[in-house]
Amino acid sequence: MSAVISAMDLSQTEAFGVTIREQVNLAPYTTMKVGGPAEYFAAVNTVHELIRLVRWARAADLPYYLLGGGSNVLVSDAGMRGLVIYNRCRQVRIDEAPCCVFPQDERPFLFAESGASMAGLARRSMAAGLTGLEWAVSLPGTVGGAVVNNAGAYGGEIKDNLYNAMVMDSHGDIEEIPAAQLDFGYRSSVLKRTLPVRAGFGPVVLSANFRLALGEMAAIKATADQNLQHRRRSQPVEPSLGSTFKNPPHDFAGRLIEAAGLKGAIRGGIQVSRQHANFLINPGGVGAATAADAASLIEFIQEVVADRFGVQLEPEVQFVGEW
Ligand SMILES: Cc1cc2nc3c(=O)[nH]c(=O)nc-3n(C[C@H](O)[C@H](O)[C@H](O)COP(=O)(O)OP(=O)(O)OC[C@H]3O[C@@H](n4cnc5c(N)ncnc54)[C@H](O)[C@@H]3O)c2cc1C
Repeated sequence: MSAVISAMDLSQTEAFGVTIREQVNLAPYTTMKVGGPAEYFAAVNTVHELIRLVRWARAADLPYYLLGGGSNVLVSDAGMRGLVIYNRCRQVRIDEAPCCVFPQDERPFLFAESGASMAGLARRSMAAGLTGLEWAVSLPGTVGGAVVNNAGAYGGEIKDNLYNAMVMDSHGDIEEIPAAQLDFGYRSSVLKRTLPVRAGFGPVVLSANFRLALGEMAAIKATADQNLQHRRRSQPVEPSLGSTFKNPPHDFAGRLIEAAGLKGAIRGGIQVSRQHANFLINPGGVGAATAADAASLIEFIQEVVADRFGVQLEPEVQFVGEW
């Protein structure tokens, strides 16, 4: 149970520019467009607001949960107790521009606040002639979510170019953690392993520094275009959470689901995409499906695939909130 907070206490955050609302439906804030309400909800626009709000919540003993783009979380229909912090801290900066003055051995830094769009960051770096983030040109979600998940695609991943991340730890202290200490693995990091799936008092990524190399503009653009086209060809446009399951060793979750004849399978408003079997889609959007529909379809797929091929598929998406 989260602490009971009086209206007067809630208004304290107005002093640093943050408004807390109650019972805010989270479905529109996720890419799957399902899920129930946040008990308390606040959007932050600057890292200063983010730090102040987290410190305030800790002092009020109010558990919090960081929501980035909501592109990897299945929020329960019962919603989320505590305070959901919607991260809109979006500043991005290339240090010591223009990049063309950098000698090759002094690679420029790319700074991003944790609520910046990862795809926007990739585009910004490309426009400055920097290479290394072309894989992220169409990745949904924020820098914070990508660091937590070690997001990756097309042979690239966060850990390849991340230099360090500014993190508020679970004691409320702020430190700059070198990428090597984040213990990145396949779609995981030490942060992900410590983060609660309900509101709690976990670490918060405030910002990140990437180190990129100068590249050939034409080559950067060609790689990014290729990645973008591949995504457009292979992935559905309907609301989804991207890849539902992790790929099992030496195989692909999508291949197994398709081979099990599950393309098009439906539970309530959620269905297995006919375009990419590892994607569950919500064609009707907000109000047309529930998180329970998605959970039930995930379970059904796991049963059928385990039955047919003896493989236990593990969800890549996180079940969060009050399941
Ligand atoms: C169509 C589609 C395609 C996708 N393709 C890919 C792909 O190619 N590769 C890939 O890796 N993923 C992919 N994904 C999944 C998703 O985009 C990534 O996992 C993404 O990095 C999640 O970022 P987010 O901001 O949406 O995180 P969220 O879903 O909001 O959060 C994910 C987790 O990170 C935590 N978190 C978020 N921000 C912070 C913060 N600042 N501090 C602390 N914790 C935080 C949350 O609490 C949660 O536990 C895809 C998703 C979709 C919908």
